[in-house]
Amino acid sequence: MAGEHILIIEDNPLNMELARDLLEARGYRVREASTAQEGIEAVRAEKPDLVLMDIQLPGMDGLTATRVLREDPNLADLKIVALTAHAMKGDEQKVLEAGCNGYISKPIDTRQFPKQIASFFEERLVIRE
Ligand code: MN
Repeated sequence: MAGEHILIIEDNPLNMELARDLLEARGYRVREASTAQEGIEAVRAEKPDLVLMDIQLPGMDGLTATRVLREDPNLADLKIVALTAHAMKGDEQKVLEAGCNGYISKPIDTRQFPKQIASFFEERLVIRE
């Protein structure tokens, strides 16, 4: 692993801990934020490679936060991956329209999750197994 820097914006502590543990085990550098505002500040200060964006957050929601980040020309290379609850199935189009590169459904699948994340860093490679 190349040690890419991932910012997790997630208000649920258990979801945060699980995602963080899985990513750190793969060698990613992880930073946490529990609100959209805190996350936006961390993105601007630290320029992570990828943001894992919970959609349902207290205060500003993840779709709004994604739109804010997409308005910033300095963040053109930032990958944003939404974390969507199963109850939100059907809202996936909204996630993509807001500017996310893709989405991962919660609860996350602990075996698939690292592969899903890796795929966002390998999008120029077409891999068929
Ligand atoms: Mn949430």
